[in-house]
Amino acid sequence: MAFCRPASNLSLSLRKIRPAALCLLICLALLPSASGAAETNAVIAAFRAMQMIAPRGLIAIVYDVQNQKIIASASDTAARADLFSPGSLMKVPSLLYLLAAGKLSAEYTYHCTGRYYPRGESTLRDELIHEDVREPLAGQWYTCSAAKGHGTVGAAEALAHSCNHYFMSLHALLESAADLRSFAEFCKSYGLAQISRRLLEIANVGALSTRDRLHLSLGLPLRASVYEMTLFFAHLLRDDIAYPVGAAEARRIVLDGMRLAGSIGTARALGFQGKRTLLAKTGSGLLLNSIFKTNGWCVTAWPAHRPRILLVSFVREGYGAGVPLVCSRYFWKILFSISACGVPHSSD
Ligand SMILES: [Zn+2]
Repeated sequence: MAFCRPASNLSLSLRKIRPAALCLLICLALLPSASGAAETNAVIAAFRAMQMIAPRGLIAIVYDVQNQKIIASASDTAARADLFSPGSLMKVPSLLYLLAAGKLSAEYTYHCTGRYYPRGESTLRDELIHEDVREPLAGQWYTCSAAKGHGTVGAAEALAHSCNHYFMSLHALLESAADLRSFAEFCKSYGLAQISRRLLEIANVGALSTRDRLHLSLGLPLRASVYEMTLFFAHLLRDDIAYPVGAAEARRIVLDGMRLAGSIGTARALGFQGKRTLLAKTGSGLLLNSIFKTNGWCVTAWPAHRPRILLVSFVREGYGAGVPLVCSRYFWKILFSISACGVPHSSD
């Protein structure tokens, strides 16, 4: 079984590799080239530097959003062929779909206390459960990503802080066969082919467990490749599509949530002191038949107002998004260092 290196070892690796990585990136980035090619060279140099500090199991794609093409990838075969739970990344297409389809009001808020009782509270029982319980009983509850709760959150805040219970509270909007088929069609149009296929299976066969119904928008019963998730975010970020008013507003709210995630939410560790704003979403997807082992995801894009560069990083058995988040932070830090060396990055 392949376990990634713990975070302390990763920090050590960062210190050791930094001089070599910096030499590499400066050599590559300062090659004579046109400004567009210079940015591409800088992105490739930063990506290669990130690979040098990354743990075993990293799968990553860096993508040119405006030209819709891959700039560089790590473990390319696995990125296309291997399927994983998208975890909380699934909150992004779920929210986008529900808002754009008019099924969810942009004004909707949920008060997260940190406890979600699928069958209501009970005087007989008060018990924390995990995702191995398929049919919760009265009095059993799931905890949220913030144990004490996120308080009252709207759509953008729920995305920024990855409030599981906000999304669980929407489960009824994605339960009928008609809703699932409509969501499947939407996912397919955004490049989420495997997820679309699975949603159609669920629509046709029906009868998901209570756990899986509650966790649909949290990605638990779904599988996607890293490439597929990259296509989704690349489609979301491109700004050359004329959306109907409702879909444009849905996109604005989702991107606002990703901007908040990168500054005050789950990806705030990116921390660039407000000089450069990144869009971000983190996720951790449970391994099949496991309730404590998770794969980690981190999606980042820049510049926030009109993204040109998208990085999707994924680490097998990363125990959450921490390791891919560290890798992503390193990528952007190197890229912005190159910018400081004089390679043009026209705008933040
Ligand atoms: Zn919450």
